[in-house]
Amino acid sequence: METRTLERILTLLEKWKKEHKSPIVEKVKERFKDPFLILIATILSLRTRDIVTEKVFEKLYNEVKNVDDLEAISEERLEKLINSVGFYKNKVKTLKEIAKRLKENFNGKVPDNLKDLLSIKGVGRKTANLVLIEGFDKYGICVDTHVHRIINLWGYVSTRAADDTEMELRKKLPRKWWKKINNILVTFGQNICTPVSQKCHICPVYRLCSYKNKKGLNG
Ligand code: SF4
Repeated sequence: METRTLERILTLLEKWKKEHKSPIVEKVKERFKDPFLILIATILSLRTRDIVTEKVFEKLYNEVKNVDDLEAISEERLEKLINSVGFYKNKVKTLKEIAKRLKENFNGKVPDNLKDLLSIKGVGRKTANLVLIEGFDKYGICVDTHVHRIINLWGYVSTRAADDTEMELRKKLPRKWWKKINNILVTFGQNICTPVSQKCHICPVYRLCSYKNKKGLNG
């Protein structure tokens, strides 16, 4: 797929997205505008459905509103609060590590650059990019599993890992889409171009999608 076609698709999907629920991290941004809570929501959301993440975030938010709360809360209590999200034991460790590192190295604040964010154990490129974009309105390209899957399905990139997709997109995706592509394709990937069976018959970009031809559908 050429960049020109991808841009047409993203333009259509940006309009389509307005009628659908936003991903959890975008909702947390709109509600709090707080990089710390955006970072926490992003960690919770990894490998977890939004509907679950949203409930767990609310439970956690009742007791943890800032880095001091996160530093003070016990691992046992954290486990109880977040045990419905995927990989919750690892996430407890990551959350406690975040509290420690923010206090020790960053004056209790979430850093606003990729290098420092990535220096925190448990914070990967997807999380770091999303925090930069949603928390600080800075340029980054977040590649959620839906972005990686769909952008490969369209043949815009040909990559095995999400981090490789990010690097390819940094080379060829026009900058105006960098901050937006994740939220657009996550919403699209959750509702229409889903991992198990794509809903091509109601897809708003059906005519522009090259993948449907590979599946032998009529365009
Ligand atoms: S036509 Fe089907 S495969 Fe193509 S983007 Fe739409 S849902 Fe996905």
